Amino acid sequence: MVAGVLVELSNKNIDKIFDYNVPEDLVSNIKVGIRVEVPFGRQTLDGFVLELKNSSTMDLKDIIRIKDTDIVLDKELLELGKWLKNETLSTLISCYQVMLPKALKANIDGKSSIKMDSFYYINGNVDGVKLTPKQQEIIDIIKRDGKIIRKDATDISLSSLNTLLKKDILVEEKTEHYRLSYSNKVVPKKELTDDQKRVVNEVENSNDFTYLLYGVTGSGKTEVYMELIEHQLDLGKTCIVLVPEISLTPQMVSRFQQRFGDKIAALHSALSDGEKYDEWRRIARGEANIVIGARSAIFAPLKNIGLIIIDEEHSESYKQADSNPRYHAIDVAKERCKYHNCKLVMGSATPSLESFARAKKGVYHLLELPNRVNGHSLPKVTIIDLGEEMKKSTGHFSEPLINAIKERIERGEQIILLLNRRGYSSFVTCKNCGTSIKCPNCDITLTYHKSSNTLRCHYCGYGDKVPNTCPKCGEKSMNDLGCGTEKIEEELHSLMDCRILRMDYDTTSRKGSHEAMIESFKNHEYDILLGTQIVAKGLDFSNVTLVGVINADTGLNIPDFRSSENTYSLLSQVAGRSGRSEKTGEVIIQTFNPDHYAISLTKKHDYVGFYNKEMEVRRENQYPPYYYLCYIRVSGKDAENVFTEIHKIKRSLERNLSGVLLLGPTTCTIFKVNNIFRYGIIIKYKKCDELKPLLEKVLDHYKTNQTIKIDIDFNPSQIF
Ligand code: ADP
Ligand code: ZN
Repeated sequence: MVAGVLVELSNKNIDKIFDYNVPEDLVSNIKVGIRVEVPFGRQTLDGFVLELKNSSTMDLKDIIRIKDTDIVLDKELLELGKWLKNETLSTLISCYQVMLPKALKANIDGKSSIKMDSFYYINGNVDGVKLTPKQQEIIDIIKRDGKIIRKDATDISLSSLNTLLKKDILVEEKTEHYRLSYSNKVVPKKELTDDQKRVVNEVENSNDFTYLLYGVTGSGKTEVYMELIEHQLDLGKTCIVLVPEISLTPQMVSRFQQRFGDKIAALHSALSDGEKYDEWRRIARGEANIVIGARSAIFAPLKNIGLIIIDEEHSESYKQADSNPRYHAIDVAKERCKYHNCKLVMGSATPSLESFARAKKGVYHLLELPNRVNGHSLPKVTIIDLGEEMKKSTGHFSEPLINAIKERIERGEQIILLLNRRGYSSFVTCKNCGTSIKCPNCDITLTYHKSSNTLRCHYCGYGDKVPNTCPKCGEKSMNDLGCGTEKIEEELHSLMDCRILRMDYDTTSRKGSHEAMIESFKNHEYDILLGTQIVAKGLDFSNVTLVGVINADTGLNIPDFRSSENTYSLLSQVAGRSGRSEKTGEVIIQTFNPDHYAISLTKKHDYVGFYNKEMEVRRENQYPPYYYLCYIRVSGKDAENVFTEIHKIKRSLERNLSGVLLLGPTTCTIFKVNNIFRYGIIIKYKKCDELKPLLEKVLDHYKTNQTIKIDIDFNPSQIF
């Protein structure tokens, strides 16, 4: 028997199936979709078995070893990978690897472990056997419970246990055990409002396949999702729920767990590799039938899918931007829905322009939840012009915001404060000459980390101590400019007596800390939750009546055609954290651009107004959704060589494509990363069938060229 194997190396040059002989003793265990070890040149590599054939004419090498008993890539995922390769022009192997948890990727160096539990039973008759008191205790427990589980047996003597084992008085049995467990306790579900029922009925009684649920924050979208899911489970189907990583909070997971018990599996970045591996196996074995997770959960190995939900569908986190394959989870969802003949429901309070435009054209079925469940109107938004305010004050807080915070604390209510950190962070500059410290490898300013008093590059990881003197002019005082959350916290403490919980990526990266923080804020151990984007989404605290945005503008300064959209959506999301329960909420937004439509329309909660205005801007500037974008980035160590090659590519595009707009080549926003120089070309097009085949030719032409790297990104979420 012969197996066609795709090996682990992601290299255009060897991205094809290689045949191997299956030795006699492996024939009964070999299957399509499992991993094997194979000799490759002088190396040993991992690979996926993609096909099995009876014979081959060539003289073949033998497969060394089979790595899996269960299938890793089923038929659907194998097909999905091929589709993904064509969509993104990535290597086939990268498309399979991206679907899998680390423990199941093809990687000869990867270790995957299954946790085992040891159980002990009595071996035959022990009456009359002489036992020490400690040994007798063990025997008594087993007689009472039928067995002892090693990990639970905290009070017994392990050495006595081992002695009993050695003497064959006990036998050991091992079974697989999952690292995570979910409580099976469920709470009664909420009676849906008429609005929610209408939406559920509309999805279930219509023949359309793709839905956009446009519902304001707090309109009860999540309850709608859960109702739809429950109906699918009743039909024996399974479901995927995608949420952005940032809103995949323990709160969110627990809402699903309380409704569906241990039928859920949660996949997110806070899990260890082992935990992800276990969740994945539970899903593949059909032991979990609802998967809730971030982007890559769209590849969850569920069978018989009845519904896919994408919450906060506008979120940029659904696009894999920084490595191949550069896919969008919505596209993958549509493809899986086609395979399973099931529906896709996407929800948002601020849909992406692309999605809302499609809904208006009837490509998506538009569903609306215009009101909050609690019957309140959306919180009142006040916009503070920092240009005016900062003439009076020196810190980061305007007087109205300070007063509003104090008022809430006096009333025993809570506050969320957002420090918008997009494209903005603390850095160190010289007081005398204004020099800021840059990364020696990259083209960006180093970020200041106060807790460790270091400077760090967020691109390459370079780190250094803060210099005592300015490297340029020798000045002795280097200034900490910008404002991290730590700095804001200090300032607040100096302004008033309050209890502040600071939440950002640094403070939540430790396992379980995110959960604990949310719990303690909920228990009112703090007055103020202060944080970056992480506090803007998904959180649901009934006692929060004030949301303050310290700096609304920073996102607007980013050279990105989506900056207005992202700003509007962030502000609406964070505003939506206020007044979610009985008490009325308020929002105060500080900005230097009070008249910018992305900010002023937040005040009116006017998404449609924003959509109309922004669509005009996009049309004038020939951006999505009027045009598709494709970004080609060429990078390499030798800037001149990169420059020459990208010009050749540009000329080839010019010669062979018609009806497209070509911009560039220009240096990328960040020209140098880790001493690699980067140039980019933007292609704008409405319809261009020749584009993909041509780009494939370009990639093929350069596949053996070691001096440059070409990255292609269709529908880029950002251009950098
Ligand atoms: P969204 O996802 O649109 O922001 P949620 O589903 O989180 O809205 O609902 C907002 C709040 O209202 C939550 O606290 C939720 O528990 C509550 N809620 C939603 N639907 C109902 C309902 N039918 N009855 C009572 N409370 C509800
Ligand atoms: Zn760097």
